[in-house]
Amino acid sequence: MDSYEIYALRYAGPEESSRALLLWNRDWDQKIQRAYYFWCLLGPGGPVLVDCGVSPERAAQRKLKNYRHPAELLGGLGIKPDDVRHLVLSHMHWDHCGATGFFPRAQMHVQDAEWRFWRESPLVRRSLFTILHEPGDQEALDRAQDQGRLNLHQGDASLLPGLELISAPGHSPGLMALKANTAAGAAVLASDCGHTFANFSEDWPSIFIFDLPAWLASMERLRGLAASPRLLFPGHDLALSRDYPEVAPGITRLV
Ligand SMILES: [Zn+2]
Repeated sequence: MDSYEIYALRYAGPEESSRALLLWNRDWDQKIQRAYYFWCLLGPGGPVLVDCGVSPERAAQRKLKNYRHPAELLGGLGIKPDDVRHLVLSHMHWDHCGATGFFPRAQMHVQDAEWRFWRESPLVRRSLFTILHEPGDQEALDRAQDQGRLNLHQGDASLLPGLELISAPGHSPGLMALKANTAAGAAVLASDCGHTFANFSEDWPSIFIFDLPAWLASMERLRGLAASPRLLFPGHDLALSRDYPEVAPGITRLV
């Protein structure tokens, strides 16, 4: 069976915030450390990226701590930007899709519901949404579309043998997870369907809610798809850096 290794690449952080940011409406008096990641899968059809970090300009604007350029960070795995065959965008929040322009040969993959919301809904001009999405990032994606490199998916889809795109809406209109065959069994990169492992283990979303019933259903579904809770990987947990072997500075092997 086609099998993949999964690496977490920390492009910024750690940063400290109230735990209530990542666990909705609770633990107001507690702090939590979080970090910013994208992920690389190595295997027969790879390299495949899930999300891609942000540009240096965006990092400066958003005052990210310990920022690293995604292309330079990826070099730690011996991979050049032009080597990337597929770039799966879990969703179109600024911290996940802000460096697509650095991967000019990659096929981009986005859920159709996610794309249509950010391209077409009048809601995106409301301040609650303008803080989550950057028009400049959209321009790079529009260029990819003009070049025939944008693939819009309606629900689950097979990406490559051993890699499945999984629709998991709730945090955003069309959040997409990736299920991968690995030597340890089926692993799921959930991105922000859970910001931390605690979101899944405690069945509790973060404060950034688009559709709460859909989110709860997605969490349940992803828990069922991963071979074990330790193979269901969240989007911003500092444990992704701390609890796994570091193979290069800022890069850990998850499985
Ligand atoms: Zn995020």
